[in-house]
Amino acid sequence: MNKYDLVIAGGGTSGCACAYIAGKLGLKVLLVEKNSFLGGSITSSLVIPAMKTADNSINNDFFNMLYDELHKLNGASTYSDGNKGWFNPELAKIVLDNLLSQVHVDILFESEIKNIVNKLSSYIVTIDDDNIYVYNNKELSSSIETKFLVDATGDAKICEKLNYQFLGDNELKTQPTNLRFIMSGVNIEKFSSWLMEYDTNRDVTSCCNTDNVTLLSTAYTWDSNIDWALRPIFKQGVDDGIITEEDSNYFQIFSVAGTHDSVAFNCPRILDTELSRSEAYIKARESILRLSMFCKKYFIGFENAYISSIANSLGVRVSRRVKGKYIYTKNDLISGKKFESPVLISNYPIDIHSKDKNGSTLKKVYQEYQLPIESLIVDERLFVIGRCISAEFEAQGALRIIPSCFSMGEGLAKYLYNKIKNV
Ligand SMILES: Cc1cc2nc3c(=O)[nH]c(=O)nc-3n(C[C@H](O)[C@H](O)[C@H](O)COP(=O)(O)OP(=O)(O)OC[C@H]3O[C@@H](n4cnc5c(N)ncnc54)[C@H](O)[C@@H]3O)c2cc1C
Repeated sequence: MNKYDLVIAGGGTSGCACAYIAGKLGLKVLLVEKNSFLGGSITSSLVIPAMKTADNSINNDFFNMLYDELHKLNGASTYSDGNKGWFNPELAKIVLDNLLSQVHVDILFESEIKNIVNKLSSYIVTIDDDNIYVYNNKELSSSIETKFLVDATGDAKICEKLNYQFLGDNELKTQPTNLRFIMSGVNIEKFSSWLMEYDTNRDVTSCCNTDNVTLLSTAYTWDSNIDWALRPIFKQGVDDGIITEEDSNYFQIFSVAGTHDSVAFNCPRILDTELSRSEAYIKARESILRLSMFCKKYFIGFENAYISSIANSLGVRVSRRVKGKYIYTKNDLISGKKFESPVLISNYPIDIHSKDKNGSTLKKVYQEYQLPIESLIVDERLFVIGRCISAEFEAQGALRIIPSCFSMGEGLAKYLYNKIKNV
């Protein structure tokens, strides 16, 4: 039977950070990923850029390493506000493969953990029988013994298998999902000159030139409590029957690092939270087609643009939240409560998307906050990282951003390393 220090389910945002740092510290790590590539939301759901976070943030080694390696390939840029999170999602797949193999993490793609037995001093996990080769054709036994198990699946799939408790079971709170896409063939120079003149609110529309590439972002929502410059254009699109009113509920775009002609869309946002994921995909792709035609018709610079990529996976803001050793509260966050062993420090606002017009909120926090390691501990050998950690709904709305998920993964890896060394 193969033996590992750490088996991580989910090679996404938090899982990659945890695997990389644990491998770098010399732990024996197996990463089990359902997709055929790493990166999770960043690559599979095209979530870019990583949001900017606190100046005093901690556990940033993985973020910095990922940035440096991507930057060498022209696949990451720093925005004029200092945000290093502008990644190219396709190059991220390649760089993540490289980073994790450099530190000898064993990776199983297109795999899931089928069965878990808790032996008290270790877990025995069973992987799908037909997919037990990590690279170099190294064969694994289908049953694997691990000291620690980490649930980095985003949806707490491992905790579910082990029948652990979730938060908010009685009052399931959720947020709408998005299916992101990319359009290429955009004349970015033309588009940015037009856009910057059209919308002079620099909190909404901004642009900078870095690494000889123009980076830009803008947004619009159907909320009437904000004075969006793009409103007349969206109204025209709805009146002309090019898009539906619902298509216009949320619109946000960012240019893509390392490209001269591509723009990533953080939309459509699927309002009906009761839809099955299958229905949501079909509905979202219909909306993507309409939104792409809308951009071509009304945005200067989009005349020759086309859909070049649609995310493989819906962007899920929140599904399950595990009940861990400590439930992090909204009050902990707002009061900036200090903890003995924080895994992250951030100041990102509480970002709650609602299906209702004027219902979404982005609440600023006025001081940096910390997340304690205890919110990642489910039991002595089982840990959770990423968007499904043990936190109240509102607190999760601030904690789930990419840099914070990286920090959670990194913080947990360091904690487990110390635990193993002290035994
Ligand atoms: C629409 C949307 C927009 C967002 N915008 C931003 C933004 O602009 N900037 C920002 O910083 N953050 C943003 N976020 C938040 C951020 O992207 C996510 O919260 C974060 O990436 C989640 O990381 P994670 O590690 O929890 O999960 P993920 O990165 O999703 O990783 C989970 C991984 O687990 C794998 N997996 C799932 N089940 C199994 C299983 N049973 N076995 C094996 N593997 C499994 C998945 O394939 C995936 O690779 C956004 C999120 C959404 C949904």
